Amino acid sequence: MSRPRSLYDATGAQLAEVLSGEPAYRVKQLWAGLYEQCKALDDITTLSAPLRAELNEKLPTSLLLVRESVSDKGDTIKFLWRLADGHHPIETVLMHYADRVTVCVSTQAGCAMACGFCATGQAGFSRQLTVGEIVEQVVRASRHAKQRKQRVANIVFMGMGEPLANEPAVWGAVERFHGDMGISARHLTISTVGIVPGIRTLATRPLPVNLAVSLHAARNDLRDDLVPINKRYPLEELMTACRDYLRVKNRRISFEWAMIAGVNDTARDASELAKLALSLKPTAHVNLIPLNPTPGFPTRGTDAAGVRRFADRLSDRGVNATIRRNRGTDIDAACGQLAAGQPVVLTARRNV
Ligand code: SAH
Repeated sequence: MSRPRSLYDATGAQLAEVLSGEPAYRVKQLWAGLYEQCKALDDITTLSAPLRAELNEKLPTSLLLVRESVSDKGDTIKFLWRLADGHHPIETVLMHYADRVTVCVSTQAGCAMACGFCATGQAGFSRQLTVGEIVEQVVRASRHAKQRKQRVANIVFMGMGEPLANEPAVWGAVERFHGDMGISARHLTISTVGIVPGIRTLATRPLPVNLAVSLHAARNDLRDDLVPINKRYPLEELMTACRDYLRVKNRRISFEWAMIAGVNDTARDASELAKLALSLKPTAHVNLIPLNPTPGFPTRGTDAAGVRRFADRLSDRGVNATIRRNRGTDIDAACGQLAAGQPVVLTARRNV
């Protein structure tokens, strides 16, 4: 059996191998400590100190906390992590709401999709995250939420990176969240820029997770500009993949729409978007996100009245839209702002 890359990358069988000299229940104690109680290895005191030390040495963790930034009176916390290989910082956002706690996880260090309005896209791609690196973000954030006597109930794959360009690791993390941490699959949301083969793979996966598609434009010429991967997977193909997905899954898809002043917030855009949303059965739900500022994109977000007007236009056509409240803009933790403190170097993509 191959050696796992880190503590949170290890499967139960791999942990059993590392603990092979111990009674079998030790693996269960360790697993419960890690995933049900979200404890740090040193706090899993059902295991002896020498055993913990041995595990620490053989199976190191992956994330080193660099900085914790706090916003919204303590309700939004952004974690900046360094990865064990010393490069490529990533970020995770923990959001406390009155009735729930949500974690937004990164799936890649950086992103290769190059959407101009997104800070992660502006910074370029560094590398894929492993299952363990995705899982550890949630475990560490959960530990934090526990201190406030709250429990993580929702996970959104909406941090840095394109989840469906790293689908196997994302799915490994989904299984851990659902199977070991007890988070309902219906409370897991995978957001994609529209990677058609990834959507098709997701359709073959067993659990009823949510799919969100970052649409932002409902005609190809505009979407080619805003979301460059549209040139590879144009809207017709993307919608066919969504329809096929729905045929298998029958779970409502949502469309994300970052509202950019004068670019995608006109009556024409609303009508084109409504048409696409209504072409899916059940009709897609639309999430409107007023564009958050990023260093590399000068155009501003649509103002509140414009967003409202756009939402009304959609609802007049029978499409439900939610206006997403912005969290953590002052600490660069909101949608599209995660760049892990990297200065925006537009040539960085050359290093991929
Ligand atoms: N790559 C995936 C996951 C990232 S999710 C995806 O694109 O879906 C992050 C969401 O925030 C996406 O819907 C993205 O399009 C949106 N977003 C990116 N930049 C933004 C910005 N500056 N303001 C508001 N939303 C933004």
